[in-house]
This record gives sequence, C-alpha cells and structure tokens, in this order.
Amino acid sequence: MTSLATTEPGSGSDAASITTSATRTTGGYLLSGQKAWISNAGEAEFYVVFAKTDHAQRSGGVSAFLLRKNTDGMTFGEPMRKMGQRAIVCREVFFDGAFVPEGNRLGNEGQGFRGLMRTFDISRTVLGAAATGVARAAYEYARDYAKTRVQFGKPIIEHQAVAFRLADMRTRVEQARLMTWRAAKRLDAGLNATTEAAMAKLIASETAAYCTWAAVQTLGGWGYSREYPVEQWMRDAKLEEIEEGTSDIMRLLISRSM
Ligand SMILES: Cc1cc2nc3c(=O)[nH]c(=O)nc-3n(C[C@H](O)[C@H](O)[C@H](O)COP(=O)(O)OP(=O)(O)OC[C@H]3O[C@@H](n4cnc5c(N)ncnc54)[C@H](O)[C@@H]3O)c2cc1C
Repeated sequence: MTSLATTEPGSGSDAASITTSATRTTGGYLLSGQKAWISNAGEAEFYVVFAKTDHAQRSGGVSAFLLRKNTDGMTFGEPMRKMGQRAIVCREVFFDGAFVPEGNRLGNEGQGFRGLMRTFDISRTVLGAAATGVARAAYEYARDYAKTRVQFGKPIIEHQAVAFRLADMRTRVEQARLMTWRAAKRLDAGLNATTEAAMAKLIASETAAYCTWAAVQTLGGWGYSREYPVEQWMRDAKLEEIEEGTSDIMRLLISRSM
C-alpha cells in the first residue's frame, strides 16, 4: 500500500505553496515539515512525499521522494476524525530531518509537480469511476425502495415527484459513466486527458453527492436512519467533491483549457 503526501495544514488546493523542505546532505536529502489528511498514513509501507528543493520557486521547486514507513525522523499523528469514508484512516505525517537517499528521488529536482499533475489525470479518472459506482448504488436502492413503499394507496414511484427525481438520478449516473469512460479511453490511448479527467471527476463527484442526497430523500425518514445504507453513502460521497482537487479546482482547470 502506498500513500501520496501532498497536502499540508497551510497548503491544500494550492499544492505549489507547500513548505515541507528537502535539504541536500551527503548522499541524499533531509526532509522537514508536516503533511495533513494523508490517506492510509501509518498503514501504508510506502510514501510518495512532495517537498520543496527550491523555496524561491513555486511548482518548479517541488520534488517527489519515496520513503518507507520505518524511516527515522518520520512520525504519524492520531487518526483524523471525519464525516465519512471511515474505512480509510487519514493521519498527519511529521518529518524532522528524515533522511532520503538521492536514489529515492522520483524524477529530477523540480519535476515533482509535473509528476503529481500526471498522477491526478489517472487518479481523478479512477475517482470518477468510484463516484459513479456510489451514485449508481444510491439510484438503484432508491428505485427499488420506491417500487415497494406505498403511500396514498400506491407505490411512491407512481408519484410523479418521486419518479422524476429517479429519472434525474438515472440520467446523471449515465452521464457520469460515459464521461469517465471517455477520460479512461484517452488515457489508455496514451492521449492527454487532463481536461477530460477533470470533467469526469467534477460530474461524477457532483452526481454522487446529488444521487446519495436524493436517495435519502426518497427513503424519507428511513433514509435518515442508520438501518439503511443511504445516509452512509451520502456522507461518503461528499468527500469525492473535495479530495484529489475540489470541484472549484476542477472548474478552474477546465476553464484554463478554454
Ligand atoms: C478524507 C480526506 C482524504 C484525503 N487524502 C489525501 C491524501 O491521501 N493525500 C493528500 O495529499 N491530500 C489528501 N487530502 C487533502 C485534499 O486533497 C484537500 O483537502 C483538498 O485538496 C482541498 O484542500 P484544503 O482542504 O486545504 O482546502 P482549501 O484549498 O483551503 O480550499 C477551501 C475552499 O476554497 C476553495 N478554493 C481554493 N482555491 C480556490 C480557487 N483558486 N478558486 C476557487 N475556489 C478555491 C476550495 O474549492 C474549497 O471550497 C484528503 C482530504 C480528505 C478530507
């Protein structure tokens, strides 16, 4: 298992503003600084850590390093308490002069940011698939429930407000799936997919947030209950609009490509 450590307490969307430093020493670098919100930190064996080799530059000063869990000078915080996705633990990671051999630098000095952006093209597409999955689950659960739940003498799916909401859910799931496939197809063909991956991530994560909200609404009070899975999916889905770049940052990337 590998963790990717970019985010810091003072640096999230603006990843080029990280302050964790990698200072040259004999045979390698000494890392100092702090990361936050690192998924699987403390559980993973490997860590791809982004640090500044040149603080005078923004993205051009970022380099990437591979560290192992038991590296001296690297420690982990307590699990961070969060709204959903509790099966994945997130922790802060602290670096206090952690030594990394030069051979563990990924790419040249200053190429880390470019590598991170290429990684995002893939991970945002994968996230689009995951978000499409939770949206589909929410749609199917709500549809099946609406066929059996009877109010005012008929299944609630026969009330037009409920049926139209389900129609919107189904349409948005198809849209998310097709746009995710398009990004994946471009990646498989070796084509640039930065904009398509951002679009897939944006549409799929907002679809997951909408469909899980709509599923809770369709189940009414039972949707709000922990006896049914949809409230958990709603809490889980919210993260998709935040991690790997927020929806605002996806819109920023898409608008920059115009
Ligand atoms: C559960 C979880 C797991 C995570 N896992 C990891 C991980 O494994 N590795 C890792 O490195 N990070 C991880 N993160 C961090 C995640 O990538 C960041 O939280 C995310 O990039 C947003 O950064 P921020 O939280 O600092 O918010 P900020 O950047 O402070 O943003 C706050 C708000 O301002 C908006 N905003 C910021 N800049 C702009 C702009 N230019 N234009 C418009 N709006 C803007 C944002 O959209 C957001 O709404 C994780 C986060 C969470 C919650």
